[in-house]
Amino acid sequence: MSSSQVLAVANQKGGVAKTTSVASLGAALAEQGSRVLLVDLDPQACLTFSLGIDPEDLELSVHHVLTKGLDPAEVVIETEDGVDLLPATIELARAEADLLTRTGREYVVRSAVEDLEPRGYDWILLDCPPSLGVLTVAALTAAGGVVIPLQCETLSHRGVGQLLDTVHDVRRFTNRSLEVWGVLPTLYDGRTRHARTVLETISETYDLDVLDPPIPKSIRFAEAPAAGHSILRTSRGNKGAQAYREVAASLAGRTRGA
Ligand code: ADP
Ligand code: MG
Repeated sequence: MSSSQVLAVANQKGGVAKTTSVASLGAALAEQGSRVLLVDLDPQACLTFSLGIDPEDLELSVHHVLTKGLDPAEVVIETEDGVDLLPATIELARAEADLLTRTGREYVVRSAVEDLEPRGYDWILLDCPPSLGVLTVAALTAAGGVVIPLQCETLSHRGVGQLLDTVHDVRRFTNRSLEVWGVLPTLYDGRTRHARTVLETISETYDLDVLDPPIPKSIRFAEAPAAGHSILRTSRGNKGAQAYREVAASLAGRTRGA
């Protein structure tokens, strides 16, 4: 296993702030002094784009690492947010199909993480695609922990049971050390009773920890990706940015306590 803390941010539902959470927690951990790598595992390449990189300009991307065995160190890019990035392009969509018939497909991300060991990352955050397919399973197989962002406004917790089934399968077959670190409430509007009720229901139903504080809804998040930076850079004092800093500190505290 790698000496980096490898954290998968997963939920098969789109729009729950997986990518935003990876970019923001990554920037926060880097601010707090950690060496951080972010891995874009979504063919939509939103994480790559949101860090100011146009996927169309890239000759090499995570797809070459996962399906062609390219050394990930050749693909890693430094970003202005103080984190490194293993970027994605739309070619990753084909990787999912290619990998389906390949031996060892569950281990392709873990193997990339192990190859990056000499770079000495403290944290490697994996931005999963909105599905429970090969790439998400490979991410969970590489990870020590998984964080599940949940949008509290809607009934987005309906898929949580299915995601937890996948986590249990991964634990049984490919990665015994995977732990669920908890759900991260996103797009949170604490003024509504509904949001609080949904949160309580989720943690009770699935016996999951709820990470604290919840990430408040803020228009600033919608603006950040177009600026090519995380919200921690574009709106330093924003409440959402601050909430991500606190969650990052608590994740870091958790690993120190372990
Ligand atoms: P996912 O990766 O799960 O599909 P994204 O991180 O891409 O989700 O977020 C979906 C949308 O919600 C994006 O437009 C993003 O800017 C917006 N968003 C994320 N977090 C917040 C927030 N706390 N407040 C307001 N908008 C947010
Ligand atoms: Mg995403």
